[in-house]
Amino acid sequence: MSRTALATIHLGALRRNLARARARARAQGAQVMAVIKADGYGHGLERVARACADADALGVAALGDGLRLRSAGNRQRIVVLSGPDEAGDLAELRRLDLDAVIHHEAQLRWLEADADARTLRVWLKIDTGMHRLGFDPAQVADAHARLRALPNIDPDIVRMTHFAASDEFDNASTHAQIACFDAATASGVGPRSLANSAGLLGWPAAYRSTNATNWVRVGGLLYGLSVVEGRSGLDFGFEPAMTLSTRLISVKAVAKGERIGYAASWECPEDMRVGVAAIGYGDGYPRSARAGTPVLVGGVRAQVIGRVSMDLITLDLRNAPSARIGDGVTLWGTGLPVETIAAQAGTIAYDLTCGMTRRVLFVEDED
Ligand SMILES: *Cc1c(COP(=O)(O)O)cnc(C)c1O
Repeated sequence: MSRTALATIHLGALRRNLARARARARAQGAQVMAVIKADGYGHGLERVARACADADALGVAALGDGLRLRSAGNRQRIVVLSGPDEAGDLAELRRLDLDAVIHHEAQLRWLEADADARTLRVWLKIDTGMHRLGFDPAQVADAHARLRALPNIDPDIVRMTHFAASDEFDNASTHAQIACFDAATASGVGPRSLANSAGLLGWPAAYRSTNATNWVRVGGLLYGLSVVEGRSGLDFGFEPAMTLSTRLISVKAVAKGERIGYAASWECPEDMRVGVAAIGYGDGYPRSARAGTPVLVGGVRAQVIGRVSMDLITLDLRNAPSARIGDGVTLWGTGLPVETIAAQAGTIAYDLTCGMTRRVLFVEDED
């Protein structure tokens, strides 16, 4: 057990991050959907949902996630962000009391053909420039009116869109997306939803509630993940919700000129101590992490040298002279932003937290 890689999930950090997001949203009169797709960005669907009891709604990627949450006894409002995949999903959405995002014509026809008397809550997604999911702006007034005409659809239809580049706080394309959304929704009334985490930080005009409720859909910031390149979640006052750790299982002296690991890619510049920690790409630590990627050994910064293996990584211990076998090694989390590791691995923080494998033992920390 002691060798197992541990992902410690900080429930208090999740709760405090949600409270921070809510305070910002509330300042503009907006409500908060906590986005917990991809198993809560890798932190665990059910536990993140429990920590987000104060959210006004939860957002999941697919119907199966909603089923999991209802099976676990969750009674919150839950929005299925991709909506029904086939007509047969509508009865299940109704049975489970899940909101459906409707983003294309075929889904609208399934709804029009559906005589089920149970009320379904619907979000209408508009493609304002990202060109992934959503109705063309020109179709929106008609789609909205058709939905409003259906007796088994809740009339409080939330019109929504998703930003492509809101992480750049001065990006003209976000201004264009907001203008496009405003034009497409000018006729008709009802709630609106535009902003994701970066929108919450940088685009308050996108979630100011004037005549109707506005919803912010917050993912990354809940987990303390930065949504802005070159910054960490901490820079915006959000705390990391996952700490990934393991132990040092070997320390040895290696002579100057000797090479470390597969492909002998790293050469010792002097006689030095090399540590081995029990974690690798088989746990979800990125194989692409370059030599020089930082870790904490007993709280002291050391760095990865050589290639990341399946079960092991090798560490330069010159900076940690007191490091001993059995010492705790932190790969990311409290004290070491996951964004730093992501930058060294050529990816983003979301990719790392979503990538933990089944071998990693998840534990909960109330704080
Ligand atoms: C993932 C997602 C979000 C949350 O995005 P973050 O940038 O992580 O806050 C919001 N809305 C939709 C539709 C999404 O798919």
